[in-house]
Amino acid sequence: MFAIVRSMEDAFVPDRSETLDPSDWTKFRDLAHRVLDDAIDYLLGIRYQPAWRGVPDWVKSELREAPPEDGQGAESAYHEFQRLVLPYVYANVHPRAWGWVIGVGTPQGIVHQMWTAALNCNVFGAEQSPDYVEERVLNWFKEKFGFSSACSGLLVSGTSMATMTALAIARTAMLGNHVVTEGLQGEAKPVALYCSDEAHFSVAKAVALLGMGTNSLRRIGVDENFRISIPELLTRISKDRENGYAPLCIIGNAGTVNTGATDDLEQLASICARENLWFHIDGAFGALLKLSPPLRPIVSGLEKADSVAFDLHKWMHIPYDAACLLTRHPEHHRATFSSAGAYVERHQRGISTGISYIDYGIETSRPFRALKIWWALKENGFRKYAGMIERNVEQARLLAYLVDREPQLCLLSANLNIVCFQFAPAGLAEPGVSELNRELLYRLHETGVAVPSYTELKGRFAIRVAITNHRTTSDDITLFVREVVRIGSDLAASS
Ligand SMILES: *Cc1c(COP(=O)(O)O)cnc(C)c1O
Repeated sequence: MFAIVRSMEDAFVPDRSETLDPSDWTKFRDLAHRVLDDAIDYLLGIRYQPAWRGVPDWVKSELREAPPEDGQGAESAYHEFQRLVLPYVYANVHPRAWGWVIGVGTPQGIVHQMWTAALNCNVFGAEQSPDYVEERVLNWFKEKFGFSSACSGLLVSGTSMATMTALAIARTAMLGNHVVTEGLQGEAKPVALYCSDEAHFSVAKAVALLGMGTNSLRRIGVDENFRISIPELLTRISKDRENGYAPLCIIGNAGTVNTGATDDLEQLASICARENLWFHIDGAFGALLKLSPPLRPIVSGLEKADSVAFDLHKWMHIPYDAACLLTRHPEHHRATFSSAGAYVERHQRGISTGISYIDYGIETSRPFRALKIWWALKENGFRKYAGMIERNVEQARLLAYLVDREPQLCLLSANLNIVCFQFAPAGLAEPGVSELNRELLYRLHETGVAVPSYTELKGRFAIRVAITNHRTTSDDITLFVREVVRIGSDLAASS
């Protein structure tokens, strides 16, 4: 507590004219318009730029600067950005950026984000229109995914966060509300959760952070198509029950990160119903197949999940970050996250009458993620996104065909939008092939031709192309295959 002053003179605060607002709004307006033009030009020209450029040592050392005590001004700071940052961004906005699973964004997203920044909303539970925009976006996806409007959901930063949130709800639902207060301390039996070997690492992280320990996560083997082995899963569940474990949840994959495989979600749903387990789906990108009539059958059963986690910043190209969690158990959702405090109580009138998002997740302060999603969906419509997804799947099919046809290339997996292969010239055996492909991958990156990533399949190093890119054309695919063969042949000849 500070001492209360006793006179007006002592309480007087000199009215400094300085704020964080621009001192010259006209100058600021000019700069803002120029920045917008530069950003649009950047996207217009991106196809003609390398997809990747390494960060030079001089840039890294200049970025290691001391904390700036006095500002250098807007113009000069922007100039520094253009000089030190802009040229060395991994251009996942490039038409041949196919590494990991990364969305491309849109030019319209710049505009949506301008208003997001200007409003600078905190969507935690004040009575305001943004809260209803989020509710609307959640309801659209509930409808698309076959969840009733009574289900609950939340926009979050990514599928990792959505899965963490979902597994917290699963824990409460399966063990009871007392886990919120007691944790797992008093549980009679240790829990067990199930996912395939191919599940994303974020699942194990969530299990660890929820106090269940990664050893409780049973990693079940996969079949030849990288889908969870149902017989092995059933055996493991019954063995666990015999051994005194309490099976809690199955985590199914709709599109694995390695190969794009989707588990048999119908079977998993019926196993969960029969065994009384929570059914969670990691549908980071694959869940969106629900939007496409021809592709929808692949994720049949998704609508039966107790919870599903998926990204909007990957295959929907909403600017980072944007992801969604849906669950058909709002009561367990609220029991897990309800947030108490006199300062956030709901009131009959005034600012605290709206939806209380803090009762549904981990974050308190939350950005207005819904605006860029709502705006983009209204602009483009769901049908257009479905078309973009279908085209990427066709492009992956084209790539698989070209790889299969090329005698020096060996197709390791092709599923959905993900193709894994090796350059494997006649006469070269492992580990030589994997070594050569590692070098080939680096050359592709360093020349900036294209950015695939990599993985390991059945002990072999694979070049991995994951197409979540609305800018990719079939010419990009043929150019890529040509360059792979050209660089690969050079490497093979010189080794
Ligand atoms: C990307 C991805 C994740 C993690 O999602 P984030 O949005 O990066 O948190 C989880 N699972 C799969 C299958 C993914 O592709």
